Amino acid sequence: MNFKRELENLQKVVIQCHKCPRLVAYLKEVSRNKPKRFRDWDYWGKPLPSFGDPTARFLIIGLAPAANGGNRTGRMFTGDRSGEWLFGALHRFGFANQPNSSRRDDDFALSDCYITATIRCAPPDNKPLPEEIENCRPYFLRELDLLKSVRVLVPLGQIAFTKMLKSLRMILRCDLSLRGQPIKENLPKAVCFLLFFYFFSPLVLDVEHIHNTISQG
Ligand code: SF4
Repeated sequence: MNFKRELENLQKVVIQCHKCPRLVAYLKEVSRNKPKRFRDWDYWGKPLPSFGDPTARFLIIGLAPAANGGNRTGRMFTGDRSGEWLFGALHRFGFANQPNSSRRDDDFALSDCYITATIRCAPPDNKPLPEEIENCRPYFLRELDLLKSVRVLVPLGQIAFTKMLKSLRMILRCDLSLRGQPIKENLPKAVCFLLFFYFFSPLVLDVEHIHNTISQG
């Protein structure tokens, strides 16, 4: 099957996921008890699909949807404060066709960039439980497998960063060293660099090696 079709099918599975009862209940509660400023909105209230350019080299990994942001609009970072900053930056550097996005039907589009998250359901107080993160990890691992052009991973925040590192360790079956050290001597192509900018930390590595490792089982 075409990888773009597989990616689409994966997102269809994600939005029907009920693996985390606490989060499913929370999404319903948030959708029922809307803040006044959003009372006219029909909340999405389901797990959020990832989105963007399936041939992207640049992968952004958030923590989780915002209860009254992405969980309201139905698209990650859409209609929330962090999205204003992120989409503005992506537009400035040519990855987005417009500097903001407040609704999922506003023709906002990404080029050479794809956005996903550590978990796809908004958690209470923005704090997912460890088991919820583990429940959601297979979706991220599958995306890494399908997004074969990705060369730069940008986790937003500490939790997204550590969970992403764990996923990469699982794929590579080795320890990842930081600060530009080779991951492992016998994996010469898999070199990672950690660069710090503001609150996010891009991890640049040879994702081709990850894909090869996955395909070799
Ligand atoms: S957080 Fe992930 S695994 Fe849990 S219910 Fe939502 S989509 Fe499913």
